[in-house]
Amino acid sequence: MAEYDYLIVGSGLYGAICAYELKKKGYKTLVVERRRHIGGNIYTECVEGINVHRYGAHIFHTSDKKVWDYVNSFAEFNNYVNCPVARYKDECYNLPFNMNTFTKLWKDVFTPAEAEKRIEEERGQNYVAEPSDLEEQAINLVGKTIYEKLIKGYTEKQWGRPCKELPPSIIKRLPVRFVFDNNYFNDRYQGIPVGGYTAIIEKMLEGTEVRTCCDFLKHREELSALADKIIYTGAIDEFYDFEYGALQYRSVRFETEVLDMPNYQGNAVINYTAADVPYTRIIEHKHFEFGNQPKTVISREYSSEWKKGDEPYYPVNDARNGELYKKYLALSQKDKNVFFGGRLGKYRYLDMDDTVADALSYLEGVPAKS
Ligand code: FAD
Ligand code: UDP
Repeated sequence: MAEYDYLIVGSGLYGAICAYELKKKGYKTLVVERRRHIGGNIYTECVEGINVHRYGAHIFHTSDKKVWDYVNSFAEFNNYVNCPVARYKDECYNLPFNMNTFTKLWKDVFTPAEAEKRIEEERGQNYVAEPSDLEEQAINLVGKTIYEKLIKGYTEKQWGRPCKELPPSIIKRLPVRFVFDNNYFNDRYQGIPVGGYTAIIEKMLEGTEVRTCCDFLKHREELSALADKIIYTGAIDEFYDFEYGALQYRSVRFETEVLDMPNYQGNAVINYTAADVPYTRIIEHKHFEFGNQPKTVISREYSSEWKKGDEPYYPVNDARNGELYKKYLALSQKDKNVFFGGRLGKYRYLDMDDTVADALSYLEGVPAKS
């Protein structure tokens, strides 16, 4: 008999929920994490009294009451509403695209009807009934001026590819509203956990053995022998030693600075949409929690193509990678004792609420230990 029922690889949100729920069901689990800390990409660290989102800004938003209640059972959430601002050269605009954006951009636009008419004119000759790339989709959605000022530069920096070569789906989820409403998300519930995300993961992992600085792939044989089953939340292609080739990801480099001033940019998120600014956005962490500390912490985000050894962040969900992922999925189905979960295990862009829902749905199928 193995020492543990489950070995969970990765202490991110998915792995931590598995550990918590399996413990409740009576199973003995061991969590291994290759980083020096728990939490995966939602890890927050306190600097100058400010919870810094080390792996990029994380705003919890969902319309799923069950998911919202679940996360609220681990932390209190504040009333933060994400209202990013876009900076294009010497101009600032509200996001998502709404009446505040339109009236600032076009001095003769005051009403929703005028904004709709203006966008219609801007689409003009460029309208395409069935857009086949992101540029066509964006121009259909908001016309040429907004595309050129607020979408093209940002998107090409973020994805490292021309908009003409990107799928329309990337931009489809951006809201366009003919009301004065800067809330970036359409979801019913939204907020930031008071005290940071790491505290949530700590609660989930309470009473579970966790080994940090432990890379499963470097100790595959010993670790596999310790448990009957494995839940793997690392990258599926890496697990199989890139047998069919590497899946593509976008990576991000965060340049974080402590500044000796109370307020650097007046907002948690400012996107830099011009192509000649090398970073995509600047996060000022204290504004997620309405902080009034004497200092502030900012992070500039630089997007880059992932190469072996980098942190994989965004799966590149195009046809080529989709096909490659299917091959890994088929291979994984032969490994009866290994289950792949989470953003990297499933090679899917999962927001936190999707991650919670996905993990809970998997765990519902696991009976309590007899
Ligand atoms: P991860 O957090 O990546 O955890 C996987 C863990 O496994 C990592 O800690 C990793 O070190 C570990 N691991 C991997 N391989 C091994 C190995 N071989 N051995 C040991 N350990 C290993 N969602 C939102 O809802 N709102 C947002 O605002 C938001 N912003 C985001 C911004 C960025 C830049 C990114 C990349 C994602 C964002 N997300 C956001 C999504 C969110 O981060 C994910 O939903 C969530 O973190 C997924 O959790 P996970 O456990 O699947 O993956
Ligand atoms: N986007 C843009 N300009 C912006 C913000 C977003 O063109 O100022 C586009 C860009 O293509 C991006 C997509 O909208 O990839 C989705 O943006 P979002 O901020 O929702 O993505 P995230 O970075 O949170 O995954």
